Order: sequence, then structure tokens, then C-alpha cells
Amino acid sequence: MALYPFTAIVGQTEMIRAMLIATVEPTLGGVLAFGDRGTGKSTAVRALAALLPTMRAVAGCRYHCDPAARSALCPECRNRRAAGRLASERVRIPVVDLPLGATEDRVVGALDLERALADGVKAFEPGLLARAHRGFLYIDEINLLEDHLVDLLLDVAASGENVVEREGLSLRHPARFVLIGSGNPEEGELRPQLLDRFGLCVEVKTPTDLDQRIEVVRRRDAFEHDQAGFTRRFAADEAALRRQLVTAMKLLPLVSVPEAILRLAAKLCIELGTDGLRGELTLLRAARAEAALEGDTVVTESHLRAVAPAALRHRLRRDPLDESLAGARVERAMAALFSQAAIAA
Ligand SMILES: [Zn+2]
Repeated sequence: MALYPFTAIVGQTEMIRAMLIATVEPTLGGVLAFGDRGTGKSTAVRALAALLPTMRAVAGCRYHCDPAARSALCPECRNRRAAGRLASERVRIPVVDLPLGATEDRVVGALDLERALADGVKAFEPGLLARAHRGFLYIDEINLLEDHLVDLLLDVAASGENVVEREGLSLRHPARFVLIGSGNPEEGELRPQLLDRFGLCVEVKTPTDLDQRIEVVRRRDAFEHDQAGFTRRFAADEAALRRQLVTAMKLLPLVSVPEAILRLAAKLCIELGTDGLRGELTLLRAARAEAALEGDTVVTESHLRAVAPAALRHRLRRDPLDESLAGARVERAMAALFSQAAIAA
């Protein structure tokens, strides 16, 4: 079955942008997309899978290790390297779905029972974390996932390594992935201590604009009527966006953040009373990725402005206010601060 093209998605600009930013800057801490059901969150993640460029990986590796990342090779690739057999191939960047009922075995991997019984060897059967290495791990309705699994995922996402110590197995393998969670706040709260571990948090709403709604339905209808034709219609847009992503990834290490922007980001976080420094760090990294996506090598106020709501709305001090108001609070603080900065300059 064909995947709905990423560039054919109507509206949902904040979610789309957040996914692109997380692709360019995978160390950001992933994306949490919160909002109504049926707003295309899952469609967007699957569409992203088809959009992503390919990457170089060690040929035959079950973890698709990066041949250039010498410090983050799996045990098997370390042996391959020692034996001088580190051939590489181009593979798709993985986007792995983590279904709600998944067991811990399935997620972290487990003893390969078949081989244990047949050959008497303790072999490891990699799980979803291995499959998601260097790509994306998507959890629809993350607020319904068991707490211990969410904790485990966030820990692995932060450390970049899956450590397996069970069933007589003892091994570790690289597991660097971007976590994308989606959820409907009406179906269960996400624990506040989990919220701020996500890099970006976006709100996804059912479009209320009449023309936009009509266009959503028209395109969906066209896609379902003729998937191949519809996909062809967007092929040039997809290729252009893919090139933009590749360029941005290359540009990212060259993007600098001027002192004035660092100060502005700090002021914004103080003004909003965000806890800890994680907010500021995420804000800067996201702004850098935003600049790279725009083809710029210096972060400006407008890059900061574009990413601040997604980087900060889930880090505001707990308030009986709901998340939709949190976004507005970020906007208000920026309006006040950034105009001051303009006057001062
Ligand atoms: Zn490997």
C-alpha cells in the first residue's frame, strides 16, 4: 500500500515542522504530539518514513550500525571491524511502530528461544529498540502505555544504549532513536515528569478553517481513489523536501548562536519560569535546526520565535491552565521580551 505523501498533508504546520526539526537534530529529545483523535498524527509519522533520506549502515548488521560511528558499534560490528570486514550499504532510516500491547521482551529484545532450544546457545533476538536505532520510534497513544515501559523508553532514548541483563543474557547495543509520541489528553494524563523529557511538544487540532477542512477531505479522497497517481503528483515536492533535509543535516554543525540570542533565550525561560536548564538547551538546539532548515548559518530571533512554543509549552510551571493556554503564554512572553530587545537594540 502506498503511503500518503508528507508534503500532501494540509495544515498541522507545527507538528510537521517539529518532525523535520527532530530529523535534523535527533538529540533534541523527540516530539510529543498532543491533540484530538483523527487529526492525522499517525498519518504524518508514516508519511515521514517515506520522506526520509537513506543512510549508510554496516552491511548485514541487525542494528544497522553507522560505520562512521566507531564508538557506537554493536558487539557484532566491533568484531567485524577487528576482522577488517566492515562493509556498508545504504538503508532506509527506520520508523518503527510500538504497538500499545507490546511486551517488554518485544521492546528490548529477548533470548532467542528457538536457537536456545535447538543449538543450546544463548543468542539474542533484537527487539523494537534495535530496529529503531538511528531512526524513529513511534508510540501512538503514549498516555495509555504502561508507566514502566515509558520510563524504559525515555531512559534508552536519553542514553542511546539498550542494556539487556536478563534470562542469562548480558549485552548492550546502541539504540539511538527519536521518540515520537502521540496522545489524546482526554484519554489519560501524561505524568508531568515525563512531559519535560520530550524535546518538543506540539498541539494538534482539528482544523476549524473551512477551506482547510475541505482541502483535507479532497486530498484524502483523491489519495484513496488513485494512490499511485496522487503519490506521483507530490513526487517533486517530496524530493525537494528530502533535499532540504539532507542539506540541513549537513549545515547543522556549522550553525552558530550569537550571544544576544543566548541571552534572549535565557530571558524567555526566566520570564516563563521553566524548571531547570533543559528548556533552554532544547530551545537553542531546536532554533539551530530551524536555522539549518532555512539554509541559514546564524540563529536569529525569528528562528527562536518559530520554535519557542514547541520547545517550552510543556515545561511551564504546573498551573491549572491547560496545555492550549501554555502555548499562548509562551507567545505572550515572547511578544513582551522580543519587542523590548528590539527597542534596546
Ligand atoms: Zn552493528
